[in-house]
Amino acid sequence: MSVLIEGALVLGETGFSAASVLVEGNRIAAVVPAAEAGHLAARERVDGRGTWLIPGLIDAHAHGYATLLRGTENAMQLELWALYTVLYGRAYDERAIRAAVLLGAAERIRAGITGWVDHTPMVPLAEAALAAHEASGLRVGYAAFLHDLSDYDLMHLDLPPALAALAGGPPKLDVETYAARFGDVVGMARAGSGRVRVLLGPNAPQRCSPGAWGLWRRLRDRHGVSVHTHLMETAAQAKVGDRFEGGLIAEMARQSLLDPTLSVAHGIWLSPGERELLARHGVTIAHNPASNLMLGSGILPYADSRAAGVGLALGTDSANTGGRHDLFEAMRLAMMLPRIATTDHTAWPRGRAVVDMATRGGAAVLGHPDLGRIAPGCLADLVLIRHDGAATLAMIPDENALVQHASADAVEAVMVDGRFVLRDRRILAFDEAAVLAEARDVIGELRERTAHRVPEIAAAIPAIAARLFG
Ligand SMILES: [Zn+2]
Repeated sequence: MSVLIEGALVLGETGFSAASVLVEGNRIAAVVPAAEAGHLAARERVDGRGTWLIPGLIDAHAHGYATLLRGTENAMQLELWALYTVLYGRAYDERAIRAAVLLGAAERIRAGITGWVDHTPMVPLAEAALAAHEASGLRVGYAAFLHDLSDYDLMHLDLPPALAALAGGPPKLDVETYAARFGDVVGMARAGSGRVRVLLGPNAPQRCSPGAWGLWRRLRDRHGVSVHTHLMETAAQAKVGDRFEGGLIAEMARQSLLDPTLSVAHGIWLSPGERELLARHGVTIAHNPASNLMLGSGILPYADSRAAGVGLALGTDSANTGGRHDLFEAMRLAMMLPRIATTDHTAWPRGRAVVDMATRGGAAVLGHPDLGRIAPGCLADLVLIRHDGAATLAMIPDENALVQHASADAVEAVMVDGRFVLRDRRILAFDEAAVLAEARDVIGELRERTAHRVPEIAAAIPAIAARLFG
């Protein structure tokens, strides 16, 4: 199986150039100047003229279940929002998780996203989720939650009993049961296509007891998996870290939890010393600008993070926080937001840095050094972008224009692992109409199952808000 994409403007190490890309199996076999492609033999030739070929975008932090929860409560801080999303999350069954994963896959494919991290609390539904991820055609890091402490307890917040049960805190963790289950889930994924990997996904380090930290180290080392967790998303979380000598990140270093296989979502409320500690251990921060804005969590200190040398990736987070699984939107925000923090334009991100976050940065999070670039030997996850629409026609072929002006509307074709999952704007990986129809039914059922509990949360919100933020 070989495909030659001819005559596109290809995004390489030094911007765009006219080239042809030969894909053999699931890898890029050659990248040659367009004029020299005549001698390359391939079973299929794709006319790339009139398009830009870029590495597939990687959504480095998201929660797959939440694609069914669009428009639910998100006009409040994370600590309040979480009560609602946990309520809805508890109502999921295998059918719902499958519908959510495939609905999110359709949206991502159309937006040029070829890989993503599904950070999931729903480990009991792993069989259904992994099957859906395989069917989606996308590359996925399935990051299984681990935690045994509740934020609300850590913040000394006594929730009304009914809400405490809902918030699930503190979750019970039987170390040996979890270890066995996690081993099974890793085995299931490894028996598949190779596109879907299991990551260990501690909910957040402060939500883990020392026993859970021990399990974190043990499972990471035994199975050789990458680790993905939330970190310092809100100001309230930063205060919880104060109970450790030198802060939470220093404790993570003492516990041997920091290493290059670790990626952390958000990283907004880190101190300068903590950013340096993450950088020194090769940790990647997955930045989620839309979600952080929607929940009022804050803005990642971009210039400080870069100056510290921390690796950066880009994510869309939950559909019920960030809104869209659209990295073009996230890239634009990542490019513009740092301009609020400083008037020094030399500290502002340029297009190249932002594209790198959405490609190579995400590849690091997925644990794939051979991804996120268009170069021989790399995995063939590629996106063809048209530039003949009203919004794109005048684009200069460079990374700044790509970030500022391209959008999901311009995505023409998407290849993952050497196979087209979108061609001529039609999804080939699965039956999109059937996925949408199924999701429509499931969403109605989820709403019915949860509606009676929503007023209970709404009634408790003012008192909790007063305690947390008053
Ligand atoms: Zn998240």
